[in-house]
Amino acid sequence: MSPATAIGLFGGTFDPIHFAHLRLAEEIAEAFALAQVRLIPAAIPPHRAQPAAAPGHRLAMTQLAIEGNDRFVVDDRELGRTGPSYTVDTLAQTRNEAGEQPLCLMMGADAFTALTTWHRWEDLFELAHIIIARRPGYPLEQLASSLPAPLRRQYEQRLNPEPTTLQHAPAGGLFTHELTALDVSATAVRNLIREGASLRYLLPDAVIAYIDTHGLYRE
Ligand code: ATP
Repeated sequence: MSPATAIGLFGGTFDPIHFAHLRLAEEIAEAFALAQVRLIPAAIPPHRAQPAAAPGHRLAMTQLAIEGNDRFVVDDRELGRTGPSYTVDTLAQTRNEAGEQPLCLMMGADAFTALTTWHRWEDLFELAHIIIARRPGYPLEQLASSLPAPLRRQYEQRLNPEPTTLQHAPAGGLFTHELTALDVSATAVRNLIREGASLRYLLPDAVIAYIDTHGLYRE
């Protein structure tokens, strides 16, 4: 396998996308020598409250946020499907297109902790590697002890401390990344908008301008 062919997949509601999302994708792309990161806005996330902004707005903001980053692309396939956005379906489709190319799903430690609630969660490991990023409040040292038993077993069996090994297999490994701690959440951003407070330096200026122009999240 030639180096730097691995593709990163980063799903989220991105309601709205903020700098912790972008930093997660950027740092992981660099640390694991990924050829590309695909940001995938979820249409109807199965595990959580429905997004506040319409899919078209979340897609537009994600596109604006990655402008100028040659390694990032937006993958809108989940927005074109009807019904819940299951990550396992997205990975299966991507795997069909990618052949034996390494794929890796990236997520914050909070999302990984809830993985057993995801549709066909154990199949995810057959389709991709998973990279878990530190998130404030979810220290990686305490991750194993916070996992339900079946997920903890997978974690202990699959955890691989060496980032370069990701390029050597198409799927199946678990990796962690000590992401620069940025305690930003989309919920906090939406609350700031309702309060009429400044969003500066929490998300890209182009996204702030878009939110403003379209009057998003005001109520
Ligand atoms: P909300 O506040 O609406 O729940 P969010 O900010 O958590 O949103 P999502 O779109 O739900 O953002 O998250 C997409 C992915 O980004 C998840 O895997 C989540 O763990 C990760 N993520 C979001 N914010 C951070 C952060 N500050 N640090 C690390 N990971 C994060």
